[in-house]
Amino acid sequence: MNIFELTDKYTASTYGRYKLALKSGKGSLLYDENGNEYIDFGSGIAVNSFGISDSEWLEAITAQLGMINHASNYYYTEPQAKLAEMLCEKSGMKNVFFTNSGAEANECAIKCARKYAHDKYGDSRSTVITLENSFHGRTLTTLSATGQPAMHVNFAPFTPGFKHIPANDISALSADIGEDTAAIMLELVQGEGGVNRLTSDYVNAVVDICRERDILLIIDEVQTGNGRCGNLYAFMEYGISPDIVTTAKGLGGGLPIGAAMFGEKTSGVLTPGTHGSTFGGNPVCAAGACSIISRMTPELFEGVKKRAEYLKNRLENANGVKSVSGMGLMIGIETEKPAGDIVKRCMENGLLVLTAKTKVRLLPALNIPFELLEKGSDILLKAIAE
Ligand SMILES: *Cc1c(COP(=O)(O)O)cnc(C)c1O
Repeated sequence: MNIFELTDKYTASTYGRYKLALKSGKGSLLYDENGNEYIDFGSGIAVNSFGISDSEWLEAITAQLGMINHASNYYYTEPQAKLAEMLCEKSGMKNVFFTNSGAEANECAIKCARKYAHDKYGDSRSTVITLENSFHGRTLTTLSATGQPAMHVNFAPFTPGFKHIPANDISALSADIGEDTAAIMLELVQGEGGVNRLTSDYVNAVVDICRERDILLIIDEVQTGNGRCGNLYAFMEYGISPDIVTTAKGLGGGLPIGAAMFGEKTSGVLTPGTHGSTFGGNPVCAAGACSIISRMTPELFEGVKKRAEYLKNRLENANGVKSVSGMGLMIGIETEKPAGDIVKRCMENGLLVLTAKTKVRLLPALNIPFELLEKGSDILLKAIAE
């Protein structure tokens, strides 16, 4: 049996996969089994921040692999210490809990928010408000947080204590917040929900309400974070100070690591024994993340914004494009043709792109060479227009 047949026979059929078996790559180029080349506009869903097997990242993780590949969190390791310091110094957050994924980072944030409210206000305050169309993960609790009813069939009962409200609607916000509200959790640009950006007015209104009522503000930066939106974290572009920030995807540059980062109010909430993870902050993943985060400089963000500008200029008003949304190198394209057809057409012509709901979604590496950006957008524009 070939790779397709083996996978389809022996793995749970949870994914609608494209018939493409990727074998190798470097930077923003990928190769399949037969040596066909693809330009990568997806980065493994915003994971490979500096592309496939980036040399500096590879050197950092291989050096760490040869020193110590894993240690339990009963002990200290240098990569975890350095990564936590770097994240706090660069983001202004106070401390960090390391996880293996975005969903776990959000679970940790929700636990922290519930404990904060419980410690201060008792049992009456536990509801976490999230937005319609949000995506916060696939565990039962983060699915409960996720504001997409289509994902809620078949899996009841869910973790109680979540309420979904419409995005960018300030009046709904004040109507739905109550005495029982412990936290509000938001993506500043909804990724899986269709690359929808929250307005500054809305975000500022949320910040004000949270401050007035001692409600925690949790920003889910699993997709928007780590340089993706043209700053280390998107909340920094909005100029706000969240109580908890979660991230994952691009943090490890291609190895599984996530983080829940805590601010002034929340940094002391999780106490010994209240949370933990076997693999969380694994030294190899942390060494990879150190290589990524150490390169998050103003020059890099400038480069992200330039690349984003280039793509936006080429896409806006192009044939077959209805609208372009997003922030930095997280781009959604509303097209006249179905997004799925465009993805397939692009693949046939050597370009990998993603979808988000009904849109085509682009998440190229932060350092994708301009030459590949140009070649890739030629293929994309042709597929959209045809
Ligand atoms: C991908 C994603 C998650 C879930 O991350 P996993 O690593 O798949 O668990 C959560 N929130 C957002 C905003 C995401 O984009």
